[in-house]
Amino acid sequence: MSKALVVLSGGQDSTTCLFWALEKYDSVSALTFNYNQRHKIELESATKIAKLAGVPHRIVDMGPIFGGVSPLTNYDHEVEEYTDAESLPGGLENTFVPGRNILFLTVAGSQAYVDGADSIILGVSEEDFGGYPDCREDFIRKMEAALASGLDKPIKIETPLVHLNKKQTVELAQSLLGCMEALAFSHTCYNGAVPPCGTCHACLLRARGFAQAAVPDPLVERLKNETAA
Ligand code: ZN
Repeated sequence: MSKALVVLSGGQDSTTCLFWALEKYDSVSALTFNYNQRHKIELESATKIAKLAGVPHRIVDMGPIFGGVSPLTNYDHEVEEYTDAESLPGGLENTFVPGRNILFLTVAGSQAYVDGADSIILGVSEEDFGGYPDCREDFIRKMEAALASGLDKPIKIETPLVHLNKKQTVELAQSLLGCMEALAFSHTCYNGAVPPCGTCHACLLRARGFAQAAVPDPLVERLKNETAA
């Protein structure tokens, strides 16, 4: 029996990965990290989405370990605002949280070992993550090798979105049973705003992906309907 552990942030990408895993693996569970992120509301999203997917879900509290310089974890620093996705600067975003995926994959590796899971699923994408080095395939393969060595057991790290852009991620979500419905409860905005602020890096990329795929964002649609009701 194949068994996967999905790192579920509660955002668009990890939600898509969860439903991708449900079609590919016999057994799926989800793991979420509370790292004192500004957008803590995503923890509620992750809980709701895991429930919709019908998978066991755990939240691991990492405490304030990533307090550093990223505006996602240091509330003295503001999240940058932009007018549109085209004006996003290239290079490394200041929202980068150093070591986040190293630590997440280490904890997930330990958990996968205990659970007897063959694979960890992580929703990283090389294209859309503001140049984050820990979202690149090179890092993932090295981390996979480190886990295999340190655990003396091969655990695969699957990254189904790593070479997809946001438009292709939307198209993948459409092909997965129940995924669009779950995306209505996902959270992306770095500012933790509901409805989404629409001006942060994460909001702009999400909106552009849905626009390019010519699909309405189920989250935006849900909030619109709730306001109208
Ligand atoms: Zn935002």
